[in-house]
Amino acid sequence: MRIAVAEIAQESDSFSPLQADLTDFEAYGLYFGQEVLDRMKGVGPIGGFIEVAAAEPGEVVLLPIVRAWGSAGGVIKAETLDFFTERFVAGLRTSLPLDAVFLSLHGAAASEQVDDVEGHLLQAARDVVGAGVPIVVALDHHANITQQMIDCADVLVGHETQPHDPPATGRKAARLLFRMLRGEICPSVAWQKIPMIMPQDQFLTSAGPMQQWFDRARSLEQRDGVLDVSPYPMQPWLDVAEGGWSVVVHTDDDPALARQLAKEMADLAWQLREQFWASERVAPGEAVRRAIAAEAGLVILSDTGDSVYGGAPGDNTCVLQALLDQPSDALALVPMVDLEALNAACTAGVGARLTLALGGKVDNVFCKPVTVTGQVAAVSTGFVVDLHDRGVCDLQRTALLQVGNVWIALLGHRSFAVNHPILYTHLGIDMADAKIVVLKTASNFQFFARWRRELIRVDSPGTTQSDLTAFAWRRLPRPIYPLDRLEEWQAS
Ligand SMILES: [Zn+2]
Repeated sequence: MRIAVAEIAQESDSFSPLQADLTDFEAYGLYFGQEVLDRMKGVGPIGGFIEVAAAEPGEVVLLPIVRAWGSAGGVIKAETLDFFTERFVAGLRTSLPLDAVFLSLHGAAASEQVDDVEGHLLQAARDVVGAGVPIVVALDHHANITQQMIDCADVLVGHETQPHDPPATGRKAARLLFRMLRGEICPSVAWQKIPMIMPQDQFLTSAGPMQQWFDRARSLEQRDGVLDVSPYPMQPWLDVAEGGWSVVVHTDDDPALARQLAKEMADLAWQLREQFWASERVAPGEAVRRAIAAEAGLVILSDTGDSVYGGAPGDNTCVLQALLDQPSDALALVPMVDLEALNAACTAGVGARLTLALGGKVDNVFCKPVTVTGQVAAVSTGFVVDLHDRGVCDLQRTALLQVGNVWIALLGHRSFAVNHPILYTHLGIDMADAKIVVLKTASNFQFFARWRRELIRVDSPGTTQSDLTAFAWRRLPRPIYPLDRLEEWQAS
């Protein structure tokens, strides 16, 4: 069996001033050909796919094409998408004849010109391989499902959890693919768009309405003839023509059952809409006051408006300003993506005192630079670390600037480490000494679980802010909840 393998994945924030180009993908490891298989064992959906393929009896020949993962950022530059499309299509052509195609896509990528990057790539794949070759896709469940994706793929499988477990999604998709190739199943699909967008506040699948919705998907998958039930609560900063939540159901050659379950899942999401909209966010000043007053242990301040993992620049200063406004004995760790400030700190060197205008340079809409005077406490000239199933992380240069008890880790780019303790420990900090850490994410707190005592969601403004009503939406289909009055709705 000859199976093509590729990953082209990025999560686009339509409201971010950034644009994603090749360097954003290179930062996370851009691989072609055999290097994809060599580098991706155990990493991401491809890692999960490789594992299942290796256990498959009979000869399986994997034909790796490209691995391009750009995390989250602004929309993709037109020339960058063209580059990937050309390499992808050329790779598929030289791999023919194929028995199947396995793709890892995000599902919520947009380019300067293409609203639906995944539909575009799937169409390109279908045009090369023709109608009879199965195309199976592993997706992030924050995907925006479109008609073109449904039309061009045979099976779409989303993550089961937030925080995500990408290898598990790859394994789940792989098992379905091999069952198809063995002739054991013949997948039918039904899907339903839900006229909703929601902020990230209730996105964890371990609690609240999201747990209820995802648990229902898992229980429906236990029924006879059901292959996969994937809910897709779209990431909420994607302003595209077919934007909105959805659910996709695959059954074994039973379109009526797929239809029924897709309707049931969509109606459940709609019934839970007010719970999805509920929020415990607090204003930055109040959040800092509570964190300082908390008992011993680490308090995570989730900077929801500047979620780097959601595509924000990582240089928003609102939470930093709130910390500087309330000097205390509590040691606070703050990440800041600011190449100019990093260069100044590295040039000045360890021990130097510096006055800097910090942050607010890329995200200059929702915040302003903050002028600080502090001491350069540490400089790292480069650091590469293996984060296991998240792949290799290249922090490049970093520096630590101490402004009283606010310790600012300066980064030159939006590294995955921005929300990982390695950012601080590699600069010589013992995490146990910290009282407060600012994380540029609204969901991925797991790397700090060892020290975490409390989580406070900060209602910070920014390109990933939770107040979705404040964005200038242009392309999203209307009416949509909660931007418009939409009292009643039912799946069709
Ligand atoms: Zn996601």
